[in-house]
Parts: sequence; C-alpha cells; structure tokens
Amino acid sequence: MKKIKIAAATENKNKLREFKEIFSEMGFDAEVFSARELGMGEFPPEDADSFDGNAAIKAKALHNHLKANGHGDYVVLADDSGITAEALGGAPGVYSARYAGENATDDENLDKLLEELEKTGDKERKGAYVCVICAVMPEGNVLFEEGRMEGVIVRERVGTGGFGYDPVFFTEVYGKTAAQLTPEQKNAISHRGIALRNMCKRILEI
Ligand code: IMP
Repeated sequence: MKKIKIAAATENKNKLREFKEIFSEMGFDAEVFSARELGMGEFPPEDADSFDGNAAIKAKALHNHLKANGHGDYVVLADDSGITAEALGGAPGVYSARYAGENATDDENLDKLLEELEKTGDKERKGAYVCVICAVMPEGNVLFEEGRMEGVIVRERVGTGGFGYDPVFFTEVYGKTAAQLTPEQKNAISHRGIALRNMCKRILEI
C-alpha cells in the first residue's frame, strides 16, 4: 500500500475519519493529521465568494505554515462545501453555514432556506450539495476537485441523522432524506465523498 502523509485543514473528527477511510479504499495507507496537531494557529478569514476560493485559502495557509516549520512533505487537503438551491440562483452556497446570520444554528439556517424557497413559489425545489477539495502538493502545486450531490429540498424535516440541511435534502438515489441515511450510504454518494475520491485518483497519478 502506498504511504501518504495528509495534513487536513480541519478539526472536524468526521471529516478526518472520512479522509482516512476514502484514502484507504483507494489504496493509500494515509496518516491523517489535523491542522491543530501540526501546530497551526488561526486560519485567515474564509472571505472568498466561491468554494474553490475558500478551500484554497485554508489549504495554502496550512501548506505555508508547514513549509515554514520544515515539514514540507505533507499533502495538504482542505474542503469547502454548502448547499445551492436552483430557484435562489445558487444561494446560500458559500454562505450555507451562516445563512441566517453569523452565529446561526443549523436549525435557523434550514428554516431560512425553507422561507426563502417558499417565497419563490418554485415547485421543483431542486438543490445540490457541492464540495470543493483543494490539495496543495509538497512541491506547491495546487489541485481542485468538485463533487456534487443532486436532490430536492422538501418542505418538512424527515430523519434525525446527519447535520446541517440533511433533514430536508431528499435524494432520489435512496428515496430518503440525507438525515435518514447511514454514514456509509451518504459517503457513497455525497459531494464530499465524490470530490475526495476524485482527488485521490489525481494524487495517485502524480
Ligand atoms: P463546511 O464546508 O464544513 O464549512 O460546511 C458548510 C456548510 O454547508 C455546513 O455548515 C452546512 O450548513 C452545509 N453543508 C455542507 N455539507 C453538508 C452536508 O453534507 N449535509 C448538510 N449540510 C451540509
């Protein structure tokens, strides 16, 4: 198995586990470290207006920190994700985590999405989860991969699993909302799973 050292620009335990699992599924023995474990302090603000832009801010900051501290041999990974509603011209998009305000809860953000969608009168309610993974290779080249999960944003919450907008995000693949899926079912088709698998393939080719 090919060994790889990953520095992940996140402290989210689920994402760290998912990174390790997907790399292993793709034939890598990945050692995954979080930014904090590698001594990274504050990240710069994620103030770009695209998923690519925000993922790159995080990945480049961690790469520069590692280089400055003599750890140039890590592949750095950062992701940025959100939900886009077709009838809202792609909103909330990069603002998904703070749609209802800077410190809004998942529930408040979800309610705001339902309110805004209702106002449009749209019947189809098409939406997508989008995830962009940015990798900075040890030599400094920057790669991007995007993953999408298509769905319909339903009016009522169904299911208790997942997080964020999952209770109203219905996927025809399973005929369920994302909050009714097991983590394995969701990873198999999720925006993050797709982006990450594609990124693994790219890295394997290098
Ligand atoms: P981040 O990329 O971890 O900052 O996530 C951005 C925001 O997008 C989250 O706070 C959620 O509101 C939303 N989001 C991203 N991926 C998902 C998902 O898989 N399920 C539910 N909400 C998600």
